[in-house]
Amino acid sequence: MSWDIFGHDQVVNILRNHILQDEVRHAYLFVGIPGTGRRTIALQFAQALNCSEPPAPGEFCGKCRNCRQIAAQQHPDLIVTETETAGTILKIDEIRDLQHTLSLAPYESRWRIGLLLRFDEANQNAQNALLKILEEPPENVKLLLTADSENSLLPTITSRCEVMHLFPANPAQLTSYLTDRYQVESKAAESAAHLSAGRVGFAISLLKEPEKAEQMNRTAAECLEIFSQNTRERFRYASNFKDFKKRTELREVLHVWQSVMRDLLLFSTGGKLTAQSLTFIDLCSESASVAAKYSTEQFRELIRHLNRSLEYLDANVSPQLLLEELLLNFPS
Ligand SMILES: [Zn+2]
Repeated sequence: MSWDIFGHDQVVNILRNHILQDEVRHAYLFVGIPGTGRRTIALQFAQALNCSEPPAPGEFCGKCRNCRQIAAQQHPDLIVTETETAGTILKIDEIRDLQHTLSLAPYESRWRIGLLLRFDEANQNAQNALLKILEEPPENVKLLLTADSENSLLPTITSRCEVMHLFPANPAQLTSYLTDRYQVESKAAESAAHLSAGRVGFAISLLKEPEKAEQMNRTAAECLEIFSQNTRERFRYASNFKDFKKRTELREVLHVWQSVMRDLLLFSTGGKLTAQSLTFIDLCSESASVAAKYSTEQFRELIRHLNRSLEYLDANVSPQLLLEELLLNFPS
């Protein structure tokens, strides 16, 4: 086995060529929305860099100790730095620890590799500390970073990295890949490909944990039902979020609702490609019937309210009050 990642052939070719031509850079930044396969591709690159029995230059065997330990993120020369939970802040101490470890010679492979996951969560001090490493990279060290976007990184960091953009795949192509590769029914594969909006890593996780996909569909169905509810019913729904700790849960709910609104807008503007681009294909007829009742402008307005609610949610507002306010803006 060697490189095995769907939808990023071009990026793989570049990385493989860097090894082939002995032009591997000091640092790489893999940019893309979560679930597009950033960590997977970084780990496979680390395998290609450190495999002890590569079947061909730029490839990796997947079987040697280096390959297996890297894939499991348990290789002594692979130092993984990330926040404990996604969405929190990466601080300077973590980077100092990394700097210290990287300054030692590799234990048993050619390169010592620092893998910095979700580096856009690093605060200013942590970024400045990494910049120091990038300015004078220790010998035998490679740095691999992942991030949602380049916007929250210091330009001096991105300019010192080879930036690789990972884009979501076309849902139809992803469906056939998932059907072949994971031998699942095409309906389940199609549903995962659409729910993930073409993000291969997310789609695979939905196939492995079908209850996650069910939850997304349930939340989307609830959103569609709200259109036919009266104020009392809507407020009863909002009371599910009375507890302040439900903020995180509400954020997830509202992100699903954003995708529902996108589907409604697709129906409302009536493009030919509507069915191919939907997120919730299992709710196709429900979405179509809600979309037929209101104007495109009403959906756009609702999307604006939804985006604003998500911003306020970050500002310590009671989740129940916030949701009540949002639900009052749903047309009745
Ligand atoms: Zn190997």
